[in-house]
Amino acid sequence: MAILVCGGAGYIGSHAVYQLVKAGEEVVIIDNLQHGHRGAINPAAKFYQGDIRDAKILDQIFTENKIEAVIHFAAYIEAGESVEKPLKYFNNNVYGMQILLESMVRNGVDKIVFSSTAATYGEPEKFPIEENDRKQPINPYGESKLIMEKMMKWVSRANGVRFVSLRYFNAAGAVEDGSIGEDHHPETHLIPLILQVPLGKRDHITIFGEDYPTPDGTCLRDYIHVIDLADAHILALKYLREGGASNVFNLGNGQGFSVKEMIIAAEKVTGQKIKTEMGTRRAGDPAQLIASSDKARKILGWTPQFADVEKIISTAWTWHKNHPNGYGD
Ligand code: UDP
Repeated sequence: MAILVCGGAGYIGSHAVYQLVKAGEEVVIIDNLQHGHRGAINPAAKFYQGDIRDAKILDQIFTENKIEAVIHFAAYIEAGESVEKPLKYFNNNVYGMQILLESMVRNGVDKIVFSSTAATYGEPEKFPIEENDRKQPINPYGESKLIMEKMMKWVSRANGVRFVSLRYFNAAGAVEDGSIGEDHHPETHLIPLILQVPLGKRDHITIFGEDYPTPDGTCLRDYIHVIDLADAHILALKYLREGGASNVFNLGNGQGFSVKEMIIAAEKVTGQKIKTEMGTRRAGDPAQLIASSDKARKILGWTPQFADVEKIISTAWTWHKNHPNGYGD
């Protein structure tokens, strides 16, 4: 039986496929290649180019392949953009989930691992954030992912589709062999943008606000390596295969790094001075997001391998140095 990976040509999806293939799983990918890259598609996987909002192609995939479970990464992910274009996010993320779940129910597929986010919490009430803490998203991106979780909860009760929702904090880095990595157009994420300065692709990095209630005034984030995230999906799959009930897990390292600290860490990794400029706050950014991942450690047996932020940045640096134009598509 195969695993269907929705969004398997994207950043986190392609790393999950990499780890799934390494673990001997049979993988089928659906990706519309709007943000995914042809070059990120694992040659060991069967690939369908299509959109998860298209019920026909989903039914075709479930008919042509024996799909045991779905891992769902296919969604828009930019908090800032979602504030400007909420309907774009509700259409792709929420409506996409609707069509996917309908097709899964129709085709008798009863397990799904979902790519959720720390953005479901909004401004956290306490640190580190635990799964049952208040969820009050402050941008449509986080709201859309929270709605998607709720859809799975009700479908799980009514139709017996069990789910594991993984709330990632800040995904970063690349597989150590440098074969795949992060490549967004336009790039909005902090680490790739910082690394564009030593690559000579940008003059400086703009810090989005230094008036936050944090020690150095810049936002704190919990950076977690993409391979550690990928491994959590494999453990979630195992959990569901062993009959585990629907569940939600945070995935982070449990340590917050400020924007300024990340720039200093990148200077150490690259050996180059990185020019900065002070900008204003970006809409939809909470001051800090730091995870408690105790539940994932206890129940899934998850142990992140890349706890060190310089190590995480160095894997990203290897990818970007060798692929200054990303996948070049
Ligand atoms: N950030 C920044 N300058 C940039 C890009 C991001 O200061 O050019 C900040 C952003 O405000 C946030 C942190 O870096 O506090 C991480 O942002 P990113 O977009 O990487 O991830 P997010 O936290 O939005 O998921």
